[in-house]
Amino acid sequence: MDRCVVAVDGPSGSGKSTVSKRLAVSIGARYLDTGAMYRAVTWAVLRDGVDPQDADAVAKVAGGIDLFVGTDPLNPHVRVDGVPVDKEIRGPEVTGAVSAVAAVPAVRQLMVARQRDIIATARRIVVEGRDIGTVVAPDAELKVFLTASADERARRRSLEIAADVHATAADMARRDRLDSTRTLSPTQQAPDAIELDTTALGIDEVVSTLRDMLDRRKANAR
Ligand code: C5P
Repeated sequence: MDRCVVAVDGPSGSGKSTVSKRLAVSIGARYLDTGAMYRAVTWAVLRDGVDPQDADAVAKVAGGIDLFVGTDPLNPHVRVDGVPVDKEIRGPEVTGAVSAVAAVPAVRQLMVARQRDIIATARRIVVEGRDIGTVVAPDAELKVFLTASADERARRRSLEIAADVHATAADMARRDRLDSTRTLSPTQQAPDAIELDTTALGIDEVVSTLRDMLDRRKANAR
């Protein structure tokens, strides 16, 4: 089987998760949600009553947990110390603290190493996050950076989490600012990534655009 790593980066609400899962199913690839990994560490930090701003204590928690992240695009599954946390990691407490946890260098080092291992064993995989094209898999066969207008991103997220659109917009703006201004591996478009504005596009359109890009890449590589 051809090696095929697809890196999908972008801010929250850009459509990364839905698009990445659908694309993985449609090309018969595995799927890795790197955001879920940072969320799982954050869940453990809060479970242990650790201050998310305390980098040393956060690094200790990250190094001490047994983190399982599944790669089935139809059933992505995350466990911490054997406990399923799929629902909990999407809650407001974790979402509010995850940017601080993800900015800790030791946490990123651990997560990036795990992500690279998973990618190496899967070979054919769609990986979504903030630093996949720049740091985790700079040699990915296809790199895309998804964007959408701030209004559209807030609309999508508020529907997803059944929350007020204005509060969601404010939360998202805060998290995007933290994620894109941190020193280490900020949300960034790789120079060779293709930017795709999904504001006016349906999911099917985005997935088929990415499939076309992959097909063209493969044809050019032959
Ligand atoms: O993608 P999602 O919104 O679930 O990501 C949650 C958080 O995890 C982001 O706000 C960011 O702080 C962090 N993250 C990261 N690097 C990644 C993926 C996510 O720092 N590759």
